[in-house]
Amino acid sequence: RKEESFMQFFAPTHVYLEKNCVDNHKQELLSYGKRAFIITGKHSSAVNGSLADVLAVLDEASVPYLIYNDIEENPSVETVAKAAAEGKEFQADFVIGIGGGSPLDAAKVIALLIANPQEDAGCLYEPKDLKALPVIAIPTTCGTGSEVTPNAVLTRHAFKTKKSISYNIYPELALVDGKYLASANGRLLIHTAVDALAHCVESRLHAKANVYNHMFSEYGLSLWGKLAPVLEQIAAGPDAVPSSLSDEDLEAFMLASTVAGMAIAQTTTSLPHAISYEITYNHGVPHGKACGIFLAAYMDEYARNNPEDVNRVLSLLGFDSTESFGEYLRRLLGSVAITEEESNLYADNIMANASKLSTYPFPIDREAILRILTCSLDVTA
Ligand code: NAP
Ligand code: FE
Repeated sequence: RKEESFMQFFAPTHVYLEKNCVDNHKQELLSYGKRAFIITGKHSSAVNGSLADVLAVLDEASVPYLIYNDIEENPSVETVAKAAAEGKEFQADFVIGIGGGSPLDAAKVIALLIANPQEDAGCLYEPKDLKALPVIAIPTTCGTGSEVTPNAVLTRHAFKTKKSISYNIYPELALVDGKYLASANGRLLIHTAVDALAHCVESRLHAKANVYNHMFSEYGLSLWGKLAPVLEQIAAGPDAVPSSLSDEDLEAFMLASTVAGMAIAQTTTSLPHAISYEITYNHGVPHGKACGIFLAAYMDEYARNNPEDVNRVLSLLGFDSTESFGEYLRRLLGSVAITEEESNLYADNIMANASKLSTYPFPIDREAILRILTCSLDVTA
């Protein structure tokens, strides 16, 4: 465990969480530039009102904008390069990301590429000193916390996996409004809320954990514990829009997500996220489910070295054992099947990922990674 003298805390994003947040903070939004490049997904921001809220502010102030609405889930290096080319031609001087973690992460990378026209996407995983255009982030899912983190995860088809780029890009401004969740279906709420849960757990059980980030990870875990029964109800009818949810419930989901983002902004994520990238890339499993499915087994592994911290996580969440926590997550998420050959390959890939292994505060071997995989997934011969 790191000495307390290594403690650091850094959270430069201005964050507002309230109803009608975009309109309430339009002056600050407009202060970041004169030509806006809007980055969003294919449909959802046009349906949930977030895009219309932003366009109303830009139109009222006669700020020119260009919309790029072709960001896919788990955006690829190729997609952000294509979008950045359009943004450069438009001469955008600030970027507004609207949507789930995919458009928000893409917005950060696009802002970096536009600000550095001498570079191509080859720079994204190099150790250069590059700065991005200002980014404004407006989340419409309750999972990634990307609006308050410096990270941007891209799919790298060339390497058949996903990876966070080498640069820290904090949004200048995060405008968080629970009302955008009202159009989400139960499955999306579950998956993204479980991503926020994974952020709290992985940040709390992490080599860089310290009292500063405990403030966020522990508070996030206790918030999440209150939402756990709500999610179990949603899981009973996950395809219907959960009209039973109040505005306060939706805001609580957003709050848990931003708090969890503030936690990982201090530490990064850990092994469940690292393993999830294999499952998402190769089996198309949504990000939150792909992380959540490994949490109980990760905690079992961690408890071999430090049962106290695992018990602390469980008690904040309101569970009495990793077993009951794992059963709860299975009820929420269902299962994922892979072959034995795949599990061996994924274990090899994780063992080759030195930077992710260093987030785990104890020695770890291939056997332990295989245990996490086989305890969490349905592994067939
Ligand atoms: P997402 O991939 O952004 O979106 C998933 C789906 O939800 C899309 O089909 C999207 O539709 C739809 N959607 C978004 N908001 C909606 C709403 N309010 N109502 C209905 N549908 C909605 O999902 P995500 O889980 O938020 O983001 C996952 C990505 O974030 C992954 O690439 C992951 O690696 C990354 N991530 C980043 C961080 C970080 O710190 N930066 C942390 C964790 C994860 P449209 O395509 O039509 O918009
Ligand atoms: Fe995540």
